[in-house]
Amino acid sequence: MLSIPNLKTGEILAPYTTYKIGGPADYFVVVKNQEELVNAVIEARKNNIPYFILGTGANILFGDKGFRGLVIKNEADNFRFENTDLIAESGVTIADLIMETARQGLSGFEHFAGIPSTVGGAMWQNLHFLSPDRTRTVFIEEILHSAKLLNEDNEIITVSKDFFKFDYDYSILHDQKFVVIEAVFRLEQKPQEEILKQIKDNLEWRNEKQPSVEQYPSCGSVFKKIEGVGAGRLIERVGLKGYKMGGIQSSPQHANFLFNIGEGTAADVIALIKLIQEKVKKETGYELETEISFVGDF
Ligand SMILES: Cc1cc2nc3c(=O)[nH]c(=O)nc-3n(C[C@H](O)[C@H](O)[C@H](O)COP(=O)(O)OP(=O)(O)OC[C@H]3O[C@@H](n4cnc5c(N)ncnc54)[C@H](O)[C@@H]3O)c2cc1C
Repeated sequence: MLSIPNLKTGEILAPYTTYKIGGPADYFVVVKNQEELVNAVIEARKNNIPYFILGTGANILFGDKGFRGLVIKNEADNFRFENTDLIAESGVTIADLIMETARQGLSGFEHFAGIPSTVGGAMWQNLHFLSPDRTRTVFIEEILHSAKLLNEDNEIITVSKDFFKFDYDYSILHDQKFVVIEAVFRLEQKPQEEILKQIKDNLEWRNEKQPSVEQYPSCGSVFKKIEGVGAGRLIERVGLKGYKMGGIQSSPQHANFLFNIGEGTAADVIALIKLIQEKVKKETGYELETEISFVGDF
């Protein structure tokens, strides 16, 4: 038996994701601090119940049949400053950290303005965005100093950033069952006006190029980028930009965003992904790989 306070059963997952898609979880809990997070994971492991740590649900597609196991919605969101270091629990949203660090005149998080993410999700995928001059990619690893993890033996360990083996859209969290509990970010002092200007520039860039997630629920880009070619451009080349499959549509603004036009299902997303992959392969020879994770039963 799972000894977890406020445990729910049969909770529908759709509202907890940016896609607004996903069936029921057998077990579901919202954790509000690191002790609750660690307890929920250890309880699931002790009872041999599969578990999934959910941040803002911005990089995953839950299946229409939901999740057989425990979904742990991570809202452990305490953080504090020590000089120019920020120590944050893994459920804090990057949006909250952007506002608070900007207030303190500390630079580092402003590059990620407008991206839905928790600290844990950002580390899982090595969150990234274009540099201010748009000539390179800035990664979250550049400001990460160290982190506290729960390892597979239920021990809490402290690791440096090298431990994560960060790469583009990759960290060791993809392959090993570590849970991020807390992270230390090393920031730089900067005039507040400069930080606020960068936030504004990045939000404007996003509004211009990408459909808003509030209006068009999605998971951001579905396919991995192909250097020098662009997944979105390939979708456009084969005539599928703006194409609809059930309740899912390739965005007319940014073809690599497949958004939920209302009543969209995971089955619709998968059908559109398959169609795009097949047509792009047949007509251009390129193989498009997905960058989002598919979680649960489909
Ligand atoms: C509109 C839109 C735009 C986007 N733009 C960008 C962009 O510009 N750049 C970019 O990099 N991404 C982008 N994304 C993708 C997404 O925002 C990122 O991947 C983000 O980091 C996901 O964080 P999350 O908290 O939502 O993670 P979730 O989607 O909830 O989870 C993702 C993975 O992280 C794991 N995880 C979460 N917390 C922990 C933890 N504490 N310990 C261990 N594992 C954990 C989960 O189990 C899961 O496997 C975009 C998404 C959307 C919807």
